[in-house]
Amino acid sequence: SHRIMLGPLVAAIDQGTSSTRFLVFNSTTAELLSHHQVEIKQSFPKEGWVEEDPKEILQSVYECMERTCEKLTQLNIDISNIKAIGVTNQRETTLVWDKETGEPLYNAIVWLDLRTQSTVERLINKTPGRNKNHLKHKTGLPISTYFSAVKLRWLMDNVNEVHEAIVSHRAMFGTIDSWLIWCLTGGKSGGVHCTDVTNASRTMLFNIHTMDWDPELCKYFGIPMEILPRVRSSSEIYGLMKSGALSGIPISGCLGDQSAALVGQMCFQDGQAKNTYGTGCFLLRNTGAKPVMSDHGLLTTVAYKLGRDKPACYALEGSVAIAGAVVRWLQDNLGIIGSSEELEKLAASVGTSYGCYFVPAFSGLYAPYWEPSARGIICGLTQFTNKSHLAFAALEAVCFQTREILDAMNQDSGIPLTQLQVDGGMTSNRLLMQLQADILCIPVVKPSMPETTALGAAMAAGAAEGVSVWSLSPEDLSEVTSEKFEPQINPEESEFRYARWKKAVQKSMNWET
Ligand code: ADP
Repeated sequence: SHRIMLGPLVAAIDQGTSSTRFLVFNSTTAELLSHHQVEIKQSFPKEGWVEEDPKEILQSVYECMERTCEKLTQLNIDISNIKAIGVTNQRETTLVWDKETGEPLYNAIVWLDLRTQSTVERLINKTPGRNKNHLKHKTGLPISTYFSAVKLRWLMDNVNEVHEAIVSHRAMFGTIDSWLIWCLTGGKSGGVHCTDVTNASRTMLFNIHTMDWDPELCKYFGIPMEILPRVRSSSEIYGLMKSGALSGIPISGCLGDQSAALVGQMCFQDGQAKNTYGTGCFLLRNTGAKPVMSDHGLLTTVAYKLGRDKPACYALEGSVAIAGAVVRWLQDNLGIIGSSEELEKLAASVGTSYGCYFVPAFSGLYAPYWEPSARGIICGLTQFTNKSHLAFAALEAVCFQTREILDAMNQDSGIPLTQLQVDGGMTSNRLLMQLQADILCIPVVKPSMPETTALGAAMAAGAAEGVSVWSLSPEDLSEVTSEKFEPQINPEESEFRYARWKKAVQKSMNWET
């Protein structure tokens, strides 16, 4: 029976942009046994600004842990079977706290935030040849509002408390992984200040070749190196849980959410790829032991390093800022849907956008354009257009953006993907999945266990030296079942719509001039 099959359990904290989850897996079958999820408030205090409250985030983690443990107890599962905890998180989101009081000194600045646009433009203008790729040889990244360094610089320049804490050597910088691990391992009384290589690779302060903080980059952005967390591998014991029902359990996995999804989808081979549809949309393709620099607007990033003595693996990444966020916008700002589930019904009721195109460039455009001044547009409207067409156009926008990334990825690697592995909150939308297959003209494959991000973090935690309850071999997941969406429209129609989309994108970038 169920109880006899139960092996060691491994848990994951999945702290995303829109919600926090805690999930517990059986390490022998990768079966998800129980989980709990709490939504996170986002605030938009000014145009282009996006913030979240670090204490609310921490509280949501504790709440999810407690509720999941209660559920396990109700299922008659002993929580002492949990052998390790992994952390996976929204990447780039930046905060600074006081190590003596344990208090955050400002809200977390969310990755989507645009407040640093003028700083970014100034930095690019100062580079030889106004080259946004000036730091790419070290970081794999273009200079952009997206990454942590400029957000940290903004905090230092604009928040007096941050400035003072730095001067008096009380400041700690971190992305969400660092904040959570520091708090969970004891906070101001002995918390561990660390991050992993995947999260570090998104700060713009990290050299992806030497795999360490780069003194020149820190100098370039004026960041004192003493406030940075120690960089560790993605799979090793960082510290032990200090309080609560899970006190004493090692935290032994840490991966940025997109890296975790790559691991959870078992994309360990050079050439394997996955696309995750959450708040944004992120297509990562494993390039093995060597960092490949893109000629088509993709990022080079650290995919994972699963153990202190294991080699690092790299990935090419296409990042799309707004995917699920457009759904939330239709709900919160326009009120044309009451929940994200309603979107599918609304869009399916028409089955076409009727020539309406919606470019949701709310945070500028990320890959492959990297254009912070782009803004959202809706075009092709007629008297006939209604909210159902708009809903359809929003879903199509997510698919077209993925098509642009996939094209760039195929051009960079020279080996086209023949199908796309997908995951993330939006993949519960079946219409979206079918549209995606139609627009890519290749099959889209979705695992039936959708929590691949958490699974990846749990696998990294379970495989860590000193834990070793999970072997990270694909055989572990041999029972994984999936669903396949085959392209159904003819490629000519797909090309026609894609060409129209490209025109709309040009307008989103040039509408001001
Ligand atoms: P994140 O990790 O960025 O927090 P998730 O993977 O949890 O994101 O996905 C949540 C996002 O997916 C939200 O933006 C939400 O609007 C969107 N979403 C969830 N369900 C649906 C659905 N059925 N149709 C369209 N979008 C959805």
